[in-house]
Amino acid sequence: MQFVLASHNQKKLAELSDILRGLNLSILPLPEGAPEPVEDGDSFEANARIKARAAFEYTGLPAIADDSGLVVDALNGAPGVRSARYCPGSDADRNAFLLENLAGVDDCERQARFVCAICCVLPDGQEITVRGECEGEILDEPHGTGGFGYDPLFYVREFDCTFGELPQTVKNHISHRARALEKLKAALEKHLKTTGESANADK
Ligand code: IMP
Repeated sequence: MQFVLASHNQKKLAELSDILRGLNLSILPLPEGAPEPVEDGDSFEANARIKARAAFEYTGLPAIADDSGLVVDALNGAPGVRSARYCPGSDADRNAFLLENLAGVDDCERQARFVCAICCVLPDGQEITVRGECEGEILDEPHGTGGFGYDPLFYVREFDCTFGELPQTVKNHISHRARALEKLKAALEKHLKTTGESANADK
């Protein structure tokens, strides 16, 4: 079965496609010229739904969209759903702004998590929505050049390094998106079983 992946972010598209390869579904990129809907939801789930619905309506294909971001406890959940537009400029500017806002916050109070909501609109218009999270801490300076976004500041205790220092394959295994996708995979398999369709059919 073919799905369209509703994302224009190339690095994220690569990361998502890599993880989705295990699902054995045919994943198509969003066609050129597809409209970018306004992401004005007040939760990751609401924004994922807006993007998946827009892609479904534009292409007529079942669609998968994710919305993700960084939730920092000491900042009452900011940058949250505004992670991509926390401040104008580049990823480096947003990382600098985050550090500015966390100035004076103790090491033991810098807990944060990446959150990913995925919405999948099925051929009949039904929806599956799932959420994955990955816990970490915000360092006081960037480490590593891998990944994107807030990765160089996001320290994962289990691996004693930031997402920016982790090999992409490891990040793809433990990330918020990986966890959400595992849930999506399970939900899709269950759905396809009940409808008699095959998750492995490349059609
Ligand atoms: P969106 O889900 O494409 O709207 O992304 C929201 C923003 O959250 C991105 O632009 C990044 O700033 C941030 N973000 C989401 N996932 C990650 C990640 O895995 N690493 C670093 N930053 C991320």
